Amino acid sequence: MKLLGMFLGIVIISITCIIDDIKTIKPIQKLAGQLLAAIVAVGFGVRIEDITLPFLNTIEMQEMFSSIITVIWIVGVTNAINLIDGLDGLSSGISVISAISLLIIFVLNDSPMVAILLITALAGALVGFLPFNFAPAKTFIGDTGSNFLGFSLSIISILGVAKTYTAAVIVLPLIVLGLPLFDTFWAIIRRLIKGKSIKAIFKADKGHLHHRIVAKGFSQKQAVLILYGISATFGIFAVIMLESGIWKALSFLLMVIVAISLGYRNFKTEKIDNQRYECIECKYIYNPKFGNEKAGIPPGTPFEDLPDDWVCPVCGEGKDMFEIHQ
Ligand SMILES: [Zn+2]
Repeated sequence: MKLLGMFLGIVIISITCIIDDIKTIKPIQKLAGQLLAAIVAVGFGVRIEDITLPFLNTIEMQEMFSSIITVIWIVGVTNAINLIDGLDGLSSGISVISAISLLIIFVLNDSPMVAILLITALAGALVGFLPFNFAPAKTFIGDTGSNFLGFSLSIISILGVAKTYTAAVIVLPLIVLGLPLFDTFWAIIRRLIKGKSIKAIFKADKGHLHHRIVAKGFSQKQAVLILYGISATFGIFAVIMLESGIWKALSFLLMVIVAISLGYRNFKTEKIDNQRYECIECKYIYNPKFGNEKAGIPPGTPFEDLPDDWVCPVCGEGKDMFEIHQ
């Protein structure tokens, strides 16, 4: 029954996306399609069951409450994977990493066989597909693909944590999918503050994590790899938490953060020191490696350390006529 619900949901999501491809529909109509798909899946029994809140004791309320939470989870994950699809290989790669993390968690947790089979199939298909989707991409997963991925991941993670005895397992998919979920959550907050209306949520902007990383001077490929790394860290964190508890997981996270901040520092100084600058006027390139010996600038002098009265040795323009050479 649950599988039928999942299948019908995928059909509804796909039809919505195909209609969107043919004649662009409004974001709110697309959201309605996703909501319908989620409600159908919940109607067929896909539900986060283990939520027990101290104040909501009646069974009826719990069922209603867990249904609402489940719909929010499905629609949230679907949109998160869809929204992160901004660079080649990003959403499919994040999905592979999430699927593999979930697979490990399900096996360790003795999750229902159906969830283990489904997540293995999804991970396997994605691993085969990823080389063609990584930059420069030969194939794209498109809107339908990323909606399918997000929807499947959200449902399979519910199937995997169903009937679990340890309450902590419920939060593991949330951690595994932490990166896209956080990015989407932050996008919503950002757009609400900026646009000051509910409608603004649907306005695309350039504030996503991958935009920010590229804006910091990383290439698209590097940005994708950095986000893979963050996603893998979330996945490993979740696995450690399941196996050894929250404190070991937190110390792992702390170690990663320390390692990254040390590495980033080295990376940054190296990058700035070797940065070449180009004269806008005559295209002369100042290379720190060679300096400018005629003007008494020794090799190894970064552009930033050149004296203020230094001028272009070719055309005589000042430092302010130089820009970073890509
Ligand atoms: Zn010049």
